[in-house]
Amino acid sequence: MGRKRQSGKLPSSSANPKSVERERSGASDRVALTPSALHRWLTARGEPRYREQQILGWVYRDDAVSFADMSNVPRALREALEEHFRIVRPEPVAVARSQDDTRKLLFRFERGAEVETVIIPDPPRLTLCVSSQAGCGMGCRFCATAQLGLRRNLSAAEILAQVTGARRLLRPTERLTNIVFMGMGEPLANYDNLVEAIQVLTAEWGFALSGRRITVSTVGLVPQMERLVRETPVQLAVSLTATTDELRSELMPINRRYPLTQLVAACRRLPLPQRRRITFEYVLLAGVNDRAADAERLCTLLRGLRAKVNLIPFNPFPGAPYRRPEESEVRRFQEALLQSGLHATVRRSRGVDVQAACGQLALANRSEAPVQDQADPSAHQVPAA
Ligand code: SAH
Repeated sequence: MGRKRQSGKLPSSSANPKSVERERSGASDRVALTPSALHRWLTARGEPRYREQQILGWVYRDDAVSFADMSNVPRALREALEEHFRIVRPEPVAVARSQDDTRKLLFRFERGAEVETVIIPDPPRLTLCVSSQAGCGMGCRFCATAQLGLRRNLSAAEILAQVTGARRLLRPTERLTNIVFMGMGEPLANYDNLVEAIQVLTAEWGFALSGRRITVSTVGLVPQMERLVRETPVQLAVSLTATTDELRSELMPINRRYPLTQLVAACRRLPLPQRRRITFEYVLLAGVNDRAADAERLCTLLRGLRAKVNLIPFNPFPGAPYRRPEESEVRRFQEALLQSGLHATVRRSRGVDVQAACGQLALANRSEAPVQDQADPSAHQVPAA
């Protein structure tokens, strides 16, 4: 591939130093390559800035296996890189394929961090749902990931490794078009590493994705939402799911810190780019938040906001105390919103048979199959637990 001079934003140098992880294996004690760690190291050596983009381009755009592949980087620098860094490039340890062709990948990172990543083909789009944390500390009652608790934040390299790892599994006819931060974890609770990953996803020398094709979904961490809109070009989705503080605090404990009125007021103030709207996700729980009065309150709450509502019928998981509403109830709720002039869509559940749908990611498919020949779909099948 031609190596023309690359342009694009540089990863922020202020990114969290905690993302620098060390591998303790025998004599090698090399640092995991993250954009921020590379930035600091190259700066300290006085290397020209374009080297950073060159090297990250090799890792993320070209999926380089080693520094030795980086033919436009001087040999002495390649060797120094090799000595200091290791490229975070794990293969998924298991792949579960749904009947609807959704694919759920299991990644195992160091220090016991396991996460799931979901490939969702929906031609002409192909969306990758990535995880930002191993487990989650937000405690939402209707979400399977919450039951795991928070294990740890993922580094930017681990977030991006899910993208390169998934890309390697795509068929020759498939191309990644969209990224949603809707896998495990609360992305805005891992803000610095999230932004570092977004910089590579949107950079021309990286994944070259438009910010419109990247969505960050949050439980509603108000200060970080404001920063995200100011500092990145991505789409924001806010998980609302209830229209009274009483119910929302019960379903989503974060509501005690940022109650509904504060959250919605913050959304009204966000400096959204032109023609952008905020997506409000609303998980429909039968008999809990799916009645006519809920729809009415939702309309009142969002009146005048540049909003669209995405209704997500509850996806069950073992032991969940909720039910999915009937299709007719879902339609009725949607109709009520549309009648009041709200833009409202219903999210189709994908990958339910392999527990890959929203709120089902909980490392449930424990039997592991080696990831084999990509041309044969049956080769990846992992039976559901
Ligand atoms: N922590 C972030 C992103 C992950 S969840 C957030 O909460 O927004 C992505 C979406 O799935 C959220 O809107 C969440 O409310 C929804 N969700 C969680 N559990 C669900 C379930 N069991 N069924 C349907 N949607 C669920």
